[in-house]
Amino acid sequence: MVKRLIRKRVLERSRLLDKYYLIAIDGTGYLGFKKRHCKKCLVSKKEEKVEYYNHNILEAELIFENGLELSIETEFKENDKEGYDKQDCELRAFYKMSKRLKKKFPQLKICLSLDGLYETEPLIKVCKENNWIYIITFKEGRMRVAWEEFEMLKRARDENYGENSIR
Ligand SMILES: [Zn+2]
Repeated sequence: MVKRLIRKRVLERSRLLDKYYLIAIDGTGYLGFKKRHCKKCLVSKKEEKVEYYNHNILEAELIFENGLELSIETEFKENDKEGYDKQDCELRAFYKMSKRLKKKFPQLKICLSLDGLYETEPLIKVCKENNWIYIITFKEGRMRVAWEEFEMLKRARDENYGENSIR
């Protein structure tokens, strides 16, 4: 359905970015159990004690200026070892999802909106290979060289710095 709406150019006028479709990718909880429910459950702990057995997902949603959000991809997050490494888990889900996304929309001009968790060189490489642009929440401590460059540019001219939110 979304493909058809895009092809018919129905959504074009509601895009948030000129020429690009904004896709927000973020993890969210999906199912939670007090007892282990299967071998692939993710484990969340509180003070070293298991609190929940979860199945979390990574969601990709097209976001539009009028508030419309259309889910276009979902990927279950899985750990390959015991415990739960949020970043590792989420990145692996992202790589799997990005392949399907590219296959589904090979020509679409896409801008990904991601949180700081994704601020890694391999992920940026995936975006470049797919011809996607990206907006990533920038966190101090991650990607040290880029952070230093940002601080330098920010100081150089006042108009280099601003704070904005889309909604
Ligand atoms: Zn399970």
